[in-house]
Amino acid sequence: MTLDIQVCSRARLSRDPRFDGKFFIGVRSTRIYCRSICPVPTVKEKNVRYFPTAAAAAEAGFRPCLRCRPECSPGTPAWLGTSNTVSRALRLIGESGLEDHGMEGLAERLGVGSRHLRRLFIQHLGAPPSVVAHTRRLHFAKRLIDESKLPMTMVALASGFGSVRRFNAAIRKTYNRTPTQIRRLMHQKTIQPENHYFFRLRYRPPYHWKAMLAFLAARAAPGVEAVDQQSYRRTISVNGCHGYLQISPDEGHDAFVVRVQIADPHSLYTIIERIRRMFDLNADWAAIAQSLGTDPDLSRSVGAEPGLRVPGCWNGFELATRAILGQGITVKGATALAGRLARSFGQRFSDANALTHLFPTPEILADAQLTGVGLTKKRAETIRLLARAVCDGQISFERIVDSDALLAQLREIPGIGPWTAQYVAMRALGEPDAFPSGDLGLLRALGLKTSCELEKRAEAWRPWRAYASMYLWSAVKE
Ligand SMILES: [Zn+2]
Repeated sequence: MTLDIQVCSRARLSRDPRFDGKFFIGVRSTRIYCRSICPVPTVKEKNVRYFPTAAAAAEAGFRPCLRCRPECSPGTPAWLGTSNTVSRALRLIGESGLEDHGMEGLAERLGVGSRHLRRLFIQHLGAPPSVVAHTRRLHFAKRLIDESKLPMTMVALASGFGSVRRFNAAIRKTYNRTPTQIRRLMHQKTIQPENHYFFRLRYRPPYHWKAMLAFLAARAAPGVEAVDQQSYRRTISVNGCHGYLQISPDEGHDAFVVRVQIADPHSLYTIIERIRRMFDLNADWAAIAQSLGTDPDLSRSVGAEPGLRVPGCWNGFELATRAILGQGITVKGATALAGRLARSFGQRFSDANALTHLFPTPEILADAQLTGVGLTKKRAETIRLLARAVCDGQISFERIVDSDALLAQLREIPGIGPWTAQYVAMRALGEPDAFPSGDLGLLRALGLKTSCELEKRAEAWRPWRAYASMYLWSAVKE
């Protein structure tokens, strides 16, 4: 990726939050790297170097700034010019909870040679895959040191270091301080209940939270999800450990406050990555608006609704089940059905605060009598078949490399048509170019008759077809 130095320079001097995380600034004299919004007095242009990612700055021997905390910047945008492979590799690194499967394994999974993958990473991110993964691990560890009261042994494990010794060595090497010394710097004041973790997750403004919340509110399965004026909550289950999450805006800070309750902190990294994807926090909306805002069918709504995101999902199986439930009925009817499904087949979670159940697992739904909750025989069968395919390992919603292959697998299940499959891919994989070309709402919005015509029309919106769909849907609603 070639950075436009003039753009970087302007963004740096104005501390423009829209560029936060899109590049990092290395100060030559101090060998420290900063976010574009760093409050430290600006240095002369000739004394700085620009890096496309934090990993690139680390690779060049710079240390993260303790003031602006590069680990807190919004993530790298999901779309990196032309490289799908790099975007997918980043998703895999995020999903795997940072276990060290080795870069050979990563390359194999992506169907490319490891040398080629390394070249692509250096070209687009400025650092090889191992440094990108290590930097992420380190950044997550730094956040746990600063923002949680977890014992350092747990921080080491939760951030994927494998051993406390490796963790201590990496932190010392990067920060010139021990983990305990770093924690002392933060002067944590808030007292957090046991098993509760708070994170502040940044995004690049603008973010249309109202639209995101309205979308989720209309589909919130009673008992599993709850939405109020400002926040979204839901029950979660990761590696057999149950808990819940809550997200609400951190007013005036281009960030959300996320609260996670979970007994086992091992999965925190995976949970936070999933939340980032669910709420599309890495999106570079300014770039999307620049591209879609000139389209005659989109310009008005792009102008009227800045910061619209593509809602992702917590769990791909749950989303696919919900999409099947919704076939041919209203969103309201499907949401009520999902609530009944959860009450009948989901594990009981709590009696407090409206989150009473976990969404049922594929293992339970594979053999459940689903017609009892009001599903037609046909839909009940489709859900059972999907659940069985997931249990048998024929379909997996994790570690997906090839979205077309997932689409094809989904469509092999009787009762899952192209629309359902495309809709699931759009929300479960977070690919900005995913597109439900058979959608009636989209056809209506554009006055077109066939999905073929729609696909042709949508060529102009690449690589942002998922965002174009969101804008068209929101325009239809008006
Ligand atoms: Zn800084």
